Amino acid sequence: MEPSPVLLEVRDLQVEFHTREGSAKAVNGVSYTVAAGETLAVLGESGSGKSVTAQAIMGILDSPPGRITGGEVLFRGQDLLRLKEEQRRRIRGAEMAMIFQDALSSLNPVLTVGAQLGEMFEVHRGMGRKQARAKSVELMDRVRIPAAKDRVNDYPHQFSGGMRQRIMIAMALALEPALIIADEPTTALDVTVQAQVMDLLAELRREFDMGLILITHDLGVVADVADKIAVMYAGRIVETAPVHEIYKRPAHPYTRGLLDSIPRLDQKGHELYAIKGLPPSLLHIPPGCAFHPRCPRARDVCRAEVPPLHAVTEEDGRASGERRSACYFWKETLDG
Ligand code: ADP
Ligand code: MG
Repeated sequence: MEPSPVLLEVRDLQVEFHTREGSAKAVNGVSYTVAAGETLAVLGESGSGKSVTAQAIMGILDSPPGRITGGEVLFRGQDLLRLKEEQRRRIRGAEMAMIFQDALSSLNPVLTVGAQLGEMFEVHRGMGRKQARAKSVELMDRVRIPAAKDRVNDYPHQFSGGMRQRIMIAMALALEPALIIADEPTTALDVTVQAQVMDLLAELRREFDMGLILITHDLGVVADVADKIAVMYAGRIVETAPVHEIYKRPAHPYTRGLLDSIPRLDQKGHELYAIKGLPPSLLHIPPGCAFHPRCPRARDVCRAEVPPLHAVTEEDGRASGERRSACYFWKETLDG
């Protein structure tokens, strides 16, 4: 099989926030790629820079106080950071779309969902009201909202949280973008509904051969849908790997800590492990490896030098997929 072409390539992205308390490097040299039909899960605790990276890619960064200070965002080979706002606006929605955590505040409360969906087709596709409404119903069927025909004239608050999230997905899909970024799309939902929404996203990604970036703080929800994972900590990527390898044998102590914090059915009654301590404030990132104050493996070198992303190899020197770890002691970590 031919490898899919790379759709999005983020190279060495840097984003700073200038606030009264000082300047914070929210994104500090992030690089990743997404191919057509591929799902990248971006994982990390709250405040690690996942959303800011996404906002920089989409061109919706809160600026000021945020500022992109370096790097490239290549979409189909073109650097989006060099485009004029008008050109970017054309790409947004049509070529790449975003799904947010909170559908209720992302949807317009005073417009019916049919009016909001229909507007996408009227404004971007030049359809008339009636045709746009028919397309809206089709799309609501697509994301499996029951009785779409009857519900197209309902308002967002008349839907359950899970159904509202489906409407957001429908909005994002409307113009059949090549790339979707879903930022914690299921965080506000209960566990059963979470799984249904994840399954739907995975299915639509396959059907439309889209690239998908799935941002989450919960390693538990992405195991079945992601192809690869990038783990972020304090504005940097600390590990990247194909999804199955990372579950079997993480190569960074932070990833191992996240894995050990997932509740497991077979361990009922055991106390759940949690990584000790808190992520650092970005105004005071620890020197060396930012994770070292919380790391059970930290040694002198970790306190002194920022670890680069090492290629992770097997014992025979074979590269192990596209694995990388920003830990000096990735080998010991792999071996548990
Ligand atoms: P997460 O990984 O939880 O999505 P974010 O990407 O939203 O984290 O934020 C990363 C960091 O960027 C935050 O911890 C904060 O320091 C900074 N930041 C984000 N948005 C703003 C803002 N609007 N103003 C100032 N700082 C911000
Ligand atoms: Mg976020």
